[in-house]
Amino acid sequence: MKTNYKQYGLYLVRWQLSTPILAVALMVLATTNKLVATIAANLVGGLIFFWVDKFIFTSPRLKAQWEIQDNIECCDCGKIARGYRLVKTANYDKSKVTPKFRCESCSQTKTQRLREQGIKV
Ligand SMILES: [Zn+2]
Repeated sequence: MKTNYKQYGLYLVRWQLSTPILAVALMVLATTNKLVATIAANLVGGLIFFWVDKFIFTSPRLKAQWEIQDNIECCDCGKIARGYRLVKTANYDKSKVTPKFRCESCSQTKTQRLREQGIKV
């Protein structure tokens, strides 16, 4: 799996968020046995962070969606090759227009151009 730095960053933030939640749980449970309190605090954390982690690792909003097809005609150079097209990212959406595929090298050029325009890809 390629490292997605947006996911990685969110994951590190999420670990920081778990600190106050666990600290509060441990304070509330201060009068109980330390082992029981830790188990309960981790249970609370697990109940919350299962959903947060699931979002971080599966949300389509956090990753660029690409479509790849074999034997397409590149819309830039006309070459018949495997074609790539960026469908959607956080601030780019071509999911509702006629798809335009590009060969690998034209796709890299286009990707570079999009990045220069501030598209998150
Ligand atoms: Zn091309």
